[in-house]
Amino acid sequence: MSTSPIVIIGAGPSGLMAAQKLAEKGYTVHIYEQNKNAARKFLVAGHGGFNLTHHEPIEDFIQRYDQRLLDPIIRSFDNEDTIKWLQEIGVETYVGSSGKIFPTPGIKPITVLQLWIKKLESLGVRISYEYTFTNFAKEELTLTHKSKNQNITFSKLILSLGGGSWKKTGSDAKWIPILESKEIEITPLQAANSGYETTINYSILEGCVLKNIEVRFENIRKKGEFVFTSYGVEGSPIYYLNRFTRNKKLPLTIHIDLKINQSTDSIKDKIKGKKNISKALKENLNITGTALKLLQMLPKNIFTNPELLSEAIKNYPIEVKSLRPIDEVISTSGGISFNELDSSLALKKYPNIYCIGEMLDWEAPTGGYLLQACFSMGAWVAQQIYEHDKYTSSISGEH
Ligand SMILES: Cc1cc2nc3c(=O)[nH]c(=O)nc-3n(C[C@H](O)[C@H](O)[C@H](O)COP(=O)(O)OP(=O)(O)OC[C@H]3O[C@@H](n4cnc5c(N)ncnc54)[C@H](O)[C@@H]3O)c2cc1C
Repeated sequence: MSTSPIVIIGAGPSGLMAAQKLAEKGYTVHIYEQNKNAARKFLVAGHGGFNLTHHEPIEDFIQRYDQRLLDPIIRSFDNEDTIKWLQEIGVETYVGSSGKIFPTPGIKPITVLQLWIKKLESLGVRISYEYTFTNFAKEELTLTHKSKNQNITFSKLILSLGGGSWKKTGSDAKWIPILESKEIEITPLQAANSGYETTINYSILEGCVLKNIEVRFENIRKKGEFVFTSYGVEGSPIYYLNRFTRNKKLPLTIHIDLKINQSTDSIKDKIKGKKNISKALKENLNITGTALKLLQMLPKNIFTNPELLSEAIKNYPIEVKSLRPIDEVISTSGGISFNELDSSLALKKYPNIYCIGEMLDWEAPTGGYLLQACFSMGAWVAQQIYEHDKYTSSISGEH
């Protein structure tokens, strides 16, 4: 096995996982990161729910990704492996009611990161901060540190530079022109897991949540809950629709089923002939305060007509005028095309350079699927490099 260091650029979850798995196999690993600290986006992910992975049978789990080439990668280091790995670094987890897997209450995101970095240090992984990757060739790369360029040679290089949202975390996508200049095909980055900006202003409902609803666009449906914001709507069923609405002409209309367990006819029967519609909606249909306020925003001729109102309860229209600005979304779709990569995630044009994480062209919904893919890809390249080296040394007679 080669003893020259493996260079990893980017200390996000995918790069850190590759580093750990390589170091555990005896490799010397050196990470370069442009920020002053590691994994800032990983910490940002911890501000809301810190979904590290998802509890789900693997056959269903892999279907959450749009890219079938990820199937063997996710299977090789899956949600169960993530839970075991977290336990090994000292992080217990629990499964939330929605299947999302979180660190046990009381364990903060920074604690998870600190335990992870401690583990990496114990394995001898070196992380150098404030080094920005600016160029590369077959066996050499350029880093800029405190305005000075340094050239470094490598035997193997892993790029784990992230997507293009939340630039302040370091994921600034400045790697795109660098790779494009080497004729690597990049699918343009687009907002993914993004809220929708709506034509109608729902700011009077800002912060209010609609639960147990189904969001629909054409024949795509997703149950869940979402929240109104000053600009529109956010929430996991909305993020799920992104993939299907992204390339459609805007504005477009999505529909909400506010009473998923009742038919239009049964709703109509419960409000027909009632003088006080709001009271009937609350008492006979258990319509929540938020849903009621939303229905009251309908034109009066609809709200007071049981037939039209029951239709609106099952098919409440929300007109979407745009996605959120790319810098504010949870993740980006697009990135290095899988056409450029072999099955080990090495660039076909540069077989000793591997690319992992959100910088590749795949997408998945929130709920732990994004981080899981990053962990899986990190573990995958480590295994691929190990197997490749084992094979090469066996045919060259090294021991
Ligand atoms: C608000 C928010 C909430 C989220 N919540 C969740 C969640 O709960 N569950 C989930 O699964 N996912 C969540 N995500 C998504 C998840 O955090 C990302 O998908 C994941 O961090 C991507 O990991 P990565 O290693 O590919 O890249 P990143 O985490 O983006 O790391 C890339 C690293 O590379 C460094 N870098 C970039 N360019 C250079 C360069 N030229 N030179 C040197 N270093 C460079 C960056 O500084 C950064 O440290 C969330 C994201 C956001 C923004």
